Amino acid sequence: MTINRREAIALAVSTVAAAQPAPLHTLPKLPYPVDALEPHIDARTMEIHHGKHHQAYVDNLNKALGGSPELAQRPLEQLLRDLNAVPESIRSAVRNNGGGHANHSLFWEVLGKSSSGPRGRLAAAIEKSFSSRIGMEERLRAAGLGVFGSGWVWLVPSADGGLTVETSPNQDSPWMAGRTPLLGIDVWEHAYYLKYQNRRADYLAAVLQVINWDYLNDRYEKLVAAR
Ligand code: MN
Repeated sequence: MTINRREAIALAVSTVAAAQPAPLHTLPKLPYPVDALEPHIDARTMEIHHGKHHQAYVDNLNKALGGSPELAQRPLEQLLRDLNAVPESIRSAVRNNGGGHANHSLFWEVLGKSSSGPRGRLAAAIEKSFSSRIGMEERLRAAGLGVFGSGWVWLVPSADGGLTVETSPNQDSPWMAGRTPLLGIDVWEHAYYLKYQNRRADYLAAVLQVINWDYLNDRYEKLVAAR
């Protein structure tokens, strides 16, 4: 087989490209079909939110880390916990896109349909901090409505065995302050605009209908054990 010069160059370039380590960061698969959360969260929103928005965070994170092989190999949480170790020239790109990647990866896991509710130690933590699950949901809703512009609402385990409600702007997160969130709720308009337009309160009420408590019960046990 003979190849012309242009093909030879293309082959050489693709061989060089193949020799680069594959990007560490990849879009996680949704743990359920895109229509699994209907009617609370519609399939079209899930397709675009996961397939386009989250994918863009992953792609832009890999692009930002492209020139820093050592940083590119660092686990995402470690990267976010120590943003000061990231060169200033790519720090906001890593903060926004790495943050977006981590936040959404947790968000997909937190959502789901479960017939159960908080159990065991998580139930006790909720009772300690909010008196009841209803009280906690009320606090999450109020915090979500209080985020100006784009951001997130979080439930974070606290040292006293309870939980705190926090909010963050943009794609910032408790990870960036050295804490690990139990749950995150996306309150960017792209999370709800197609179905709920500007009605964030309706979206928040809907999200609270599709919380995967089995996942949260397990995650809480792991976070407490890792302390
Ligand atoms: Mn989002």
